[in-house]
Amino acid sequence: PHVVAEPCYECKHIDCVVVCPVECFHEGPSMLYIHPDECIDCEACVPECPEGAIYHEDQLPSDWAPFRDLNATMARQT
Ligand code: SF4
Repeated sequence: PHVVAEPCYECKHIDCVVVCPVECFHEGPSMLYIHPDECIDCEACVPECPEGAIYHEDQLPSDWAPFRDLNATMARQT
């Protein structure tokens, strides 16, 4: 699945949410999270994100590796 990383923090854009065909973005208190069981890896959201915050989990920069589990945990709670 794809993962939302640090640049999304406090970002208010929802361009990614609008284009996602399976509505797998979940809104947390400070950023968006992608539900890993719902994302179909269509990549539609990646070019839409003005912050460059969305990566395939295999291409996530190592500094942001914790966001993989954070997306899963937070998306399942909301
Ligand atoms: Fe939604 Fe596709 Fe982005 Fe996954 S890759 S979050 S399915 S738009």
